Amino acid sequence: MSDETIDCTDCQDQVHDYLQREVSEDLSKSITAHLANCDHCDDVYKTEDDLNQIIRTSCETQTPEEVIARIRKHIAELG
Ligand SMILES: [Zn+2]
Repeated sequence: MSDETIDCTDCQDQVHDYLQREVSEDLSKSITAHLANCDHCDDVYKTEDDLNQIIRTSCETQTPEEVIARIRKHIAELG
């Protein structure tokens, strides 16, 4: 199954999970190979990637230090 290729529909369905690293290693390889050969899916991937970075940046800037400190303390207590 590891050499199985995926089509554009599958690729675009999975690209979000791929970015979140929530896909299996085999699927990840298939998506990487598909993106290298398909400009359209590569565009979808880049758009999704940009969006993720914007979300991540806006989350960081909107999270007060107090909240981050509380989360860190909580994690430390768990450890
Ligand atoms: Zn494609």
